[in-house]
Amino acid sequence: MATRAVRGYRTISRDAACLLAAVHEGGSNPLPDAVRRWRAESSERSLDLWAERLEEPLVSVALIEAIRPLFKEWVNRKHGALSFHLTQMLTGHGCFGQYLCQTARRESDTRCHHCLDERDTAEHTMTTCPSWMEQRTALTAVIGMDLSLPAIIRAMLSSEIAWQAVNDFAQEVITAKEEAERRREQEALDPLRRPRRRRMRRSGRGDLH
Ligand SMILES: [Zn+2]
Repeated sequence: MATRAVRGYRTISRDAACLLAAVHEGGSNPLPDAVRRWRAESSERSLDLWAERLEEPLVSVALIEAIRPLFKEWVNRKHGALSFHLTQMLTGHGCFGQYLCQTARRESDTRCHHCLDERDTAEHTMTTCPSWMEQRTALTAVIGMDLSLPAIIRAMLSSEIAWQAVNDFAQEVITAKEEAERRREQEALDPLRRPRRRRMRRSGRGDLH
């Protein structure tokens, strides 16, 4: 089943992963399919996931709207695995301030921890955040300057190289954002160790991939 091939952000983004999988499976109306699956599971966790999804429906609606004009190409594509980090970047369900605050409720505000912006989203990360300039330059060199979601989907479907470029951006940037989130969590638990952890982070930066 295609759902297995689509991994999301921890357990919470399973809804978005299901949505992507449903689109990939070629269902003309993926939302009811996803609802039926969750109802069949009859677990409280499933209901929680659905409730979280309803809190932020625009994320997935935007993705569906971006895919809709290229639906046949999306379903019939010969290349293009949906990796863990790529799924986060396309759905916005992942290590982004807005998601961490409003959906996962793990942070007290929506701000970006990598610049001064008050709202960190997948779009902010992809198009605006100055911390990812280098990765963005590498991406736009391959897919062009339009980094809107419809343009990204179009590019990803146009060639395997473009799909890989988007995947590389997602992989590198979200890995760094996740590492920063883990560091924030550790520092919150143990503030006295903060300086030493910062030194360790600097020396370990080369390990990022
Ligand atoms: Zn930022």
